[in-house]
Order: sequence, then C-alpha cells, then structure tokens
Amino acid sequence: MAAEATNIESAPNGERATGDGAGLPTVVTADGTTRPIIGALSPSRAGDFMTCPLLYRFRVIDQLPERPAPAAVRGTLVHAVLERLYDLPAAGRTPAAARELLLPEWRRLLDEEPAYADLFADDAEREAWLEQAAGMLDRYFHMEDPRRLEPAQRELYVEAVLDSGLLLRGYIDRLDVAPNGDIRVVDYKTGSAPGPEFEAKALFQMKFYALVLWRLRGTVPRLLQLMYLGNGEVLRYSPDEDDLRATERKIHALWQAIERAVRTKQWHARRSRLCDWCDHQALCPMFGGTPPPVPDRAPAEMLRSRRAATDEI
Ligand code: SF4
Repeated sequence: MAAEATNIESAPNGERATGDGAGLPTVVTADGTTRPIIGALSPSRAGDFMTCPLLYRFRVIDQLPERPAPAAVRGTLVHAVLERLYDLPAAGRTPAAARELLLPEWRRLLDEEPAYADLFADDAEREAWLEQAAGMLDRYFHMEDPRRLEPAQRELYVEAVLDSGLLLRGYIDRLDVAPNGDIRVVDYKTGSAPGPEFEAKALFQMKFYALVLWRLRGTVPRLLQLMYLGNGEVLRYSPDEDDLRATERKIHALWQAIERAVRTKQWHARRSRLCDWCDHQALCPMFGGTPPPVPDRAPAEMLRSRRAATDEI
C-alpha cells in the first residue's frame, strides 16, 4: 500500500479540540513554517456527519463497536481481489484469474478477522455470498479491460492539511496517470449507481480526494470515476479548480458544524433509509433509545485513530 502525505510531526501531549492550536499536533508546510492541526476528516466520516450527526458521534467520539455486515465485507473482498489483479502481468488479468483470486483473498481476510466466519448461518449462505462477489468481478470486466491499464497507484493512502489546519485523509482505490500527466481517480463501489438526486453526494467523496491530490501534487485530477460493480454503471466527472475550492468551503462548513456539536454536545439524529443499516438503533432517540453520556473526547484527539480516517465502516 502506497502513501502520500504532508510532513506531520508527532503529537505532543494534551491534545485539545479548541481550534487555537494549543498542544495540538503540527504540520511543517512547504515553506518551512509549522502549523497546528485542528482536526482530521475522511470522506466516509464527513459523509456520516452529513447523513446523521449522531451516527458520526457514535463512530468517532464514542467509538462504539459495529458488527461486520456481509455487504460491507463483500466490498472489502472485491476491492482486495481488484487490487491483487493488477499484480498479475497484463495479459493474465482475465475474469478467470479474478475468480481464482477470490478464495485466497477471502482466506486472508478471515485470518485477519476471524469474526467474519460468523457472518453466515451455513456453508450454502457463504457460497451464495461468494458467488455474488464473483458476479461483481465478472461485471467489472464488462466495464473496462484491465489488460490495457497500468495503474500508477492502488490503495493509495493520502493526506493533506488545508490552510485552516484541517487534515484531510483517506484511501484512493486506484490512481491512473496518463503519459501527459493527466490523473484519473478511480473508486470501486459494490453497490448500484445512485439516482440523479444522490449523484452529488456520491461525487463529494471523489472531489474530496481530488482536493487532497491538488494540495499534494499541485495538479487538479482530470477525471473522477466511480465504478458501480453492483449494476455495471460508471459515473464520471471532470473537476476544475472552482469545484475544488467549493468543496474546500463545504468541508470547512462541515468541520465547523462538527466543532459546534462537540462544544454544545448536541448531536442530532437524522432519520433516513440508511437507518435500516445502522447498528445503533437501540441507542437512538429516533427508535426510542437513549444515547449514553457523551465521552469527554473530541475529534482532534482522533488524529492517530484509524477510525477517524478509514473508509472501511
Ligand atoms: S438509527 Fe438512523 S437516526 Fe439513529 S443514529 Fe443511526 S443513522 Fe442516525
């Protein structure tokens, strides 16, 4: 796994989410000045807050455990196979080769996370689940021909600090770089493409990555490409600098809202169809539950927490 990042100094003791920089980790910028980091955000966690602030709180502040869901683990498995596929020589990247990678990658995931074995009631259920993953891989080959591609990066960890001191970070599934230097950011989704009313939300994640790459490399990616392996659709978008400046403003507004929620301890529950997949209904007022007292912990203290940055949940 590759990484591109700014130069972040080790965090001193006494982190606080005050935003005044006192005692916070710092970043050394290109001109040699040292700047405090006020907090960290990934596209997934930003998406959580936009979907439901209480969900963000449960995940980032309370850090409540969640049960692995078969659909999410299937996504992890398909991503792992697609990453491994590009280890093969170009001519060998065939549908049959992808299917052959499925079981070894599943065993590797099981070794890393034995609890995945409990996802299925019986062997037949697991086999059906594996066949769904295989079907997504087959569909991938109808969307593009991996024999004709040579990704510059796969599973690339990126992070960059905005002028405000907010650290943005996340994992990019694939980065393609054309001979003329044009960058294409590719993200695989194992669900189906969203309807037009939800496209902007889907693209927010990609613009977030584009902004990080722009900050890191000084180049706006030419194309953002979301590949929906659930139904074989591809969503493409070419961002420009104005787009990414607007994304930066949106991220700042979001961070201010998060800081306000931290300060006031007001984390509103927002009901949506995503509640059907939420592990925290028993603690949610929308479902008759009562959230526990808010822990005395702030997002800035999550800087070194994988959960603050990860896209896995
Ligand atoms: S059940 Fe719905 S409203 Fe409640 S915390 Fe989860 S996502 Fe938010």
